[in-house]
Amino acid sequence: MKAILIEKPDDAPKGPQTVREGQITTADLPEGEVLVDVAYTTLNYKDALAITGASPVVRSFPMVPGIDFAGVVRESADPAWKPGDKVILNGWGVGEKHWGGLAEQARVKGDWLVPLPEGLSARQAMAIGTAGYTAMLCVMALERHGITPASGEIVVTGAAGGVGSVAVALLAKAGYNVAAVTGRASEAEFLKGLGAASIVDRAELTEPGRPLGKERWAAGIDVAGSHVLANVIAQTKYRGVVAACGLAAGMDLPSSVAPFILRGVTLAGVDSVMCPIEDRREAWSRLAKELDLAKLEALMTELPFDQVIETAPKFLKGEVRGRVVVPVAPDLA
Ligand code: NDP
Repeated sequence: MKAILIEKPDDAPKGPQTVREGQITTADLPEGEVLVDVAYTTLNYKDALAITGASPVVRSFPMVPGIDFAGVVRESADPAWKPGDKVILNGWGVGEKHWGGLAEQARVKGDWLVPLPEGLSARQAMAIGTAGYTAMLCVMALERHGITPASGEIVVTGAAGGVGSVAVALLAKAGYNVAAVTGRASEAEFLKGLGAASIVDRAELTEPGRPLGKERWAAGIDVAGSHVLANVIAQTKYRGVVAACGLAAGMDLPSSVAPFILRGVTLAGVDSVMCPIEDRREAWSRLAKELDLAKLEALMTELPFDQVIETAPKFLKGEVRGRVVVPVAPDLA
């Protein structure tokens, strides 16, 4: 079967990696109780880091990247799953230290799988993908800290990207007033189409800011980190909440404690990889019910498997709009 393979020569484990589309067999797949035929997978920011080698995402070589997939169970030694079950996988180190979704089959632990929710096709589930599921985890984090549509305006950074675009669509459908931050003025109409009430130029947030700024937002979802996150926190209103999930601008956080101790702002970290199964099930079940599927269609593009490697660098340049779905065996599910 075909697979994307990230490799390093045995005699130069510290040397540069190579990436190619190659052939593997079922026997090559790692251990796991459940063998899944992959119907759709996707390209996420983290897959782009893995494929380009821009960041040490891959922990062992050779590696099949792909941090998520939707497919159909072919064989299962886990009584929770049987052949024919439609499943989704996100995270758990898949595509980083365990072979992932950019292949025709994957073998994984039964505990890692979530059933494909009623009302979603495999294609729609992957249009959501890890980015969209993370967007829902961010919305849940805001809600758990008391944020409701009545709280006021919510800012979303990296709004034209994968996490951001799904977050905008979800929040707008739920009745929130969404301010979408983008570095691409050309995406303003796209973002308004997803339901953003206003567009904020990313340049307003990228420079080092004051410890406390003018109070602008009741809450925020940030995919950028660095000065962008620091400025969002500094401009969050009294007792507001910021969900932080990404590092598109950088891993650092050049902030101060002022917003936390003077305004009672909460910084809520969001991780999708090791997220407990109960939250995953809740997130996927809510995505199936609460996301406007017409909007989902508008924010996804399909990418042929043989264009995955050449497309990955676009993520690191911030050139990708919405979600990138890769059909592997679309007739399966
Ligand atoms: P995308 O590449 O699809 O989107 C990122 C967006 O961030 C870009 O489209 C761009 O949006 C914006 N951006 C790019 N560069 C910068 C910059 N220098 N400063 C500010 N904004 C920038 O990636 P995803 O949405 O898939 O992922 C976003 C982030 O979230 C990544 O860092 C990813 O690793 C992380 N992530 C974390 C997860 C977790 O479990 N915590 C799970 C999933 C993702 P625009 O052009 O609109 O400004």
